[in-house]
Amino acid sequence: MAPPARGSILRAIIVAALLIAFAWTAPLARHRWIQHVLHDDAPPRDPLRLTATSHAVFPRADRVRVVLIDGLAASVAAKQVHLHAACSRGLDLVVDVGFPTVSLPVETALWSGLTQQQSGYMFRSDTPLVPPLVGIPSQVPGSIAIAEDHGWIVRSLGFAHTEPAADPIDVTKDAAPEAWRGQWLQHARAAVASDAKLVFVHILRVDTAGHRSGRDSLLYWVAAGIADSMLDGLLEQAPDARWFLLSDHGHLTRGGHGGAEDELRQVEGCVLGPGITTKTGGPIHIVDLARALADSLGVTLAPAAHGRPLEEAMNFPLHGAQAVPAVPLGHGAFAWLMLAVGVLLAYVARRAWLAPWWFIVACVSWLVIQGEPTLSSSEMWAPSGRAMYVTWLPALAVLGAVTWVGLGRVSLARVVIAQLGLPFAAVAAAISASGAWPLLLGRAIAPVVPHFTAWLSPLILMAAHGAAVVALVVLGRSVRSGFDRHSRPETPSSAAATE
Ligand SMILES: [Zn+2]
Repeated sequence: MAPPARGSILRAIIVAALLIAFAWTAPLARHRWIQHVLHDDAPPRDPLRLTATSHAVFPRADRVRVVLIDGLAASVAAKQVHLHAACSRGLDLVVDVGFPTVSLPVETALWSGLTQQQSGYMFRSDTPLVPPLVGIPSQVPGSIAIAEDHGWIVRSLGFAHTEPAADPIDVTKDAAPEAWRGQWLQHARAAVASDAKLVFVHILRVDTAGHRSGRDSLLYWVAAGIADSMLDGLLEQAPDARWFLLSDHGHLTRGGHGGAEDELRQVEGCVLGPGITTKTGGPIHIVDLARALADSLGVTLAPAAHGRPLEEAMNFPLHGAQAVPAVPLGHGAFAWLMLAVGVLLAYVARRAWLAPWWFIVACVSWLVIQGEPTLSSSEMWAPSGRAMYVTWLPALAVLGAVTWVGLGRVSLARVVIAQLGLPFAAVAAAISASGAWPLLLGRAIAPVVPHFTAWLSPLILMAAHGAAVVALVVLGRSVRSGFDRHSRPETPSSAAATE
């Protein structure tokens, strides 16, 4: 009887080499993708369906004061004594900040009236706007912004005067941060009490505590309490001003933000001061609040701004996920097509046991252990993905066993396609839905959409690890059959591989 063809061993080695090459490069590509998501801008688009039907103008105010407590979740804001007391004296609103729930992009929406999708500002992690935003503050002479720390955010917003100053070497850092920590509140109070028409105070400590310990931690609640006292101290400096009090996003229980979760998007927002009535309402969109700000200051928003008059926004609150931007139709359709191809490829198995069960098990264990992938979760950004792959190690064991048995019964091609076709197609679907294909052509864009961008992070690693396991089993079996060639004739099981 003839020994197994050298050709089949060579074929196995080539297939294994290709899979190993993919397994090696995919995590590196994911790492580059993370950098694009965190630092680049998305191509501008305008998925928000929100149209104003009236031209009512919110009344002007001589002095406008805006205090933003970064990362203060609505559930915690509701328990803050001074914030609650202030809000009960005016318009007490739920404000939907849209997506993504990240400080600079949300604050540019507040100060320009354009959503994150319209501006294309997605994460901009430690990536200031140079030149600064052209929006509301740039139209108000003498406007002042003061930040507790992370001053690069207020320095990006187009205010005439900003503090703290930037570090002369690294503009993402603040100059003399230690000294500033002891002075900043005095500076903020003095600015609020001044004659300046517009003053913005950005309190950061709540967000810092959220990242460190999560929303339910003592640290977070203490930080929220201190921020609340700071707010009270600011309010008493200008009782006759118009005040806008809000947050830019919430925090997950375990800490983190960025995704489209309701608890992150919907924050407390209040407007109070002389002439403002008492009313509760919302959710309104943050761009509605931007219009009220612009009206208060007598400045204009870009023609594309969707913000509605506040009265109208309160009468017609947002429904459901209206503020969550939909995926572009073409991207979504192509993603579904990819998934359909993946299912067809899985069908190549023609045997139930040879279907890509490992991939189903990996996805289900991910959902059970980690929940739906979200951009708010730090594992998304972990370069090694170590926290992720522990989740699907059992699934890889299933893959190894099925591949080993499969190679003994059906052809190499059928095993590889059956095991890896669906996972690879799922990666392609997530790339399509999030609009990430241009990255492969070398374009520097941030492919950020709700849900699918977050799915891409674990899917790339699942596909890479799956490819590595299949490659190793293919190699292992080839080596074995190479030895067998010298000792015994072809086994019935490998004969079946020609079917
Ligand atoms: Zn944060």
